[in-house]
Amino acid sequence: MDLCSPSEVKRLLESRSLSPRKALGQNFLINPSVPQMIAERSYEAARNQSGDGPLGVIEIGPGVGALTARLAEYYDKVVAVEIDRGLADLFAETFADSDNVELVFGDFMKIDLPGLISERFSDILASSGSVSVCANLPYYITSPVIMKILDSFPPGGRVPFSSVTVMVQTEVANRLAAPAGSSDYGAITAAVALKADVRKLFTVSPGSFYPPPKVTSSVIGVIPHGGIREVFGDCPSDDDGCKAFFDAVSGVISASFAQRRKTLVNALSSVYGKDTIRSALLKLGFREDVRGEKLSASDFCKLTNELLR
Ligand code: SAM
Repeated sequence: MDLCSPSEVKRLLESRSLSPRKALGQNFLINPSVPQMIAERSYEAARNQSGDGPLGVIEIGPGVGALTARLAEYYDKVVAVEIDRGLADLFAETFADSDNVELVFGDFMKIDLPGLISERFSDILASSGSVSVCANLPYYITSPVIMKILDSFPPGGRVPFSSVTVMVQTEVANRLAAPAGSSDYGAITAAVALKADVRKLFTVSPGSFYPPPKVTSSVIGVIPHGGIREVFGDCPSDDDGCKAFFDAVSGVISASFAQRRKTLVNALSSVYGKDTIRSALLKLGFREDVRGEKLSASDFCKLTNELLR
């Protein structure tokens, strides 16, 4: 069965009286080279990060299974989480004979991610393996999904995925991979950088999907690093102190970008005194009229540290 052929995708959907649901971001891949490339890049990143052990992957929103079929060729185990009952039933039938593919019917946003890992991947982890995430994400929840993947674990350590390879709108990809100081740089860029490095891998045109989305898409690689302790060496060493510091940095980042055109002195003045903010900025080598987009994740940690003194 060719899960990427437009006629096959339509036939499979019609066989169960289904049609693509816009509200669930259902744009199915119909260009076979795209799931192949996504699976390849996901696997390469996972292997790079975690050596020779067995590899597992969580796929968010498998749909009819175009990407799942490719992932199942590379990974020892694929656990696919699908919210749509009709698609989940179709998927279960399609992959009934695949012994390394499992389905979880449910909303990824409501899933207990650490629980899912220990429940479904304990065999892989017990054999010194690792788990990744890979998906052609539903665009209505791209950023919340990425933040959930990163925020489901304590901020002091490494997020326990060797790689997160996902397709998102190009606009979101540009934002996540933007360097500090560029016009695409924003609160989510800095928030993600506290936990991971992001790279844009390749772009995908609307014609690769059925139905075609209105925007261009890009695949990004999100590689978790050592977390806030790696970004800021002076982060408190105890877990509670580290979490409190992380929350304070996150608050400073959100407030800094809440009104983009405000200087940091004005943006943060409802929480910290203007003189305190000014002297912290000057101490760190910034001008007192600097705006949030100039500060890297590490700068935000240093600024917060000064503000909390
Ligand atoms: N992976 C398939 C492909 O590449 O052809 C389908 C990708 S489609 C862009 C997004 C998929 O995510 C759909 O199957 C949709 O039903 C599913 N989905 C949407 N919201 C979801 C959620 N909250 N949890 C799990 N799956 C979701």
